[in-house]
Amino acid sequence: MQIAIDGPAGAGKSTIAKRLAKETGYIYVDTGAMYRAMALYLIRNGIKADDSEGIEKACVNADISIRYENGEQIVILNGENVNGLIRTQEVSNMASASSPNPKVRKKLVSLQQKLAETADVVMDGRDIGTKVLPGADVKIFLTASTAVRAKRRYDELKEKGEECDLETIEKEIAERDERDMNRAESPLVRAEDAVLVDTSDMDIDEVVGRIRELIWK
Ligand code: C5P
Repeated sequence: MQIAIDGPAGAGKSTIAKRLAKETGYIYVDTGAMYRAMALYLIRNGIKADDSEGIEKACVNADISIRYENGEQIVILNGENVNGLIRTQEVSNMASASSPNPKVRKKLVSLQQKLAETADVVMDGRDIGTKVLPGADVKIFLTASTAVRAKRRYDELKEKGEECDLETIEKEIAERDERDMNRAESPLVRAEDAVLVDTSDMDIDEVVGRIRELIWK
């Protein structure tokens, strides 16, 4: 069983996917975390997003794998658990800038497809329904207005006690969407057979309920 959830940053993909994975017993695969681990490697090694030679070498030298501990996905970069290091704005922006690189995509898509071969999955990302799992049993395109997505991210950061500014967050989200939607390689687009769910005016329970209907129909 494969459930594919795609959509822009802050639409609620990971919250919803985690809840669905818990309910169904399927494994939650957060593909964004893999692009983030790759981005962290690039930042640490001073490799710029437009340095294609550097990125090609990085794809060979950065060993990225996934492990599960108590149902939580742990991303391992060259033997190190990097879960606590990949949620910064710097890593978000580098992930979005480096993810269009075809070598990066090839490496990570293959890892994602291998994971889906071995288990039932709820997988979220940008190209799951179109590229990674085109034959997925259920495909959802989750979205919300830019303002709502920015506010959710703002509240999340505030709750963690981080200093942030709503306007800057909204601007960065819009820039990230722009890059993700307009890149040549696997852009963020709704698969023809994906169901569109706009979460702007929905709470988490409503969204999960709606997707549950689609899974069990
Ligand atoms: O989902 P998340 O915000 O963690 O993803 C970080 C970045 O990784 C996205 O902005 C996007 O550029 C990239 N990504 C991607 N394809 C995926 C998942 C994430 O290109 N399947």
